[in-house]
Amino acid sequence: MKGREKYSICTRKRLAIMTTHVNSNIRVTIWNEFRHEREMPNVKELYPQGIHGTLAEALSKDGYTTRTATLDEPEHGLTDEVLSATDVMLWWGHAAHREVKDEIVAKVQKRVLDGMGLIVLHSGHFSKIFKTLMGTTCDLKWRESGDRERLWVVAPGHPITEGIGDYIQLEHEEMYGEPFGIPEPDELVFVSWFTGGEVFRSGCCYTRGQGKIFYFRPGHETIPTYHNTEVQRVISNAIRWAAPTVTRALILGNTPPLEK
Ligand code: ZN
Repeated sequence: MKGREKYSICTRKRLAIMTTHVNSNIRVTIWNEFRHEREMPNVKELYPQGIHGTLAEALSKDGYTTRTATLDEPEHGLTDEVLSATDVMLWWGHAAHREVKDEIVAKVQKRVLDGMGLIVLHSGHFSKIFKTLMGTTCDLKWRESGDRERLWVVAPGHPITEGIGDYIQLEHEEMYGEPFGIPEPDELVFVSWFTGGEVFRSGCCYTRGQGKIFYFRPGHETIPTYHNTEVQRVISNAIRWAAPTVTRALILGNTPPLEK
């Protein structure tokens, strides 16, 4: 028994090393509005380096090649150079969705259609990029009352829920409730329950063009959700799932027949 345990620990370590090696090929850009952390002392205390800084640190430990970009940088930090060197983008925004320039949104949308992965976090449900890609209102019910949230795994075996048990429990979170104004997800991996009695589709997978999109609900700025290791695990899994697999340019338009 002891030998078997030892072997299993070694295997796990080896797998972890292999995973870190694979992840290092995935270039992640973490985009954050980065206003609350500068303007609200209680948020700054939770995220002194910004939400993007906390996520970058966690994801670097998993071996990803990370960079960050924020709203108030020129071009919101999303220059053509950055966009073309991004395999998966994370998006957190809340109070300043309207300040994101339409031409940058169009460029991000094009990158997604061409194969870049996009992970939209929490209040990013109302971001221009998510609404553009979904084509619906993306509206929902909400309440800032520190409800307990239980995110039930409804797709065990899905790569995004790997390493997560039956559920993730967050003692305090903002409540989001149905009906959520999104198109039917291609795959639903989490459903949340809140102490107020509401439920919410909190982990939703989509494909748009060649790009994979994952919406992940938790992450209100006044709660230390992004320090939670299970939440970090889901985001890390989602990055690996959303990383592009198609690298060749598609041949489209007027096409001669293959058979003469
Ligand atoms: Zn919130």
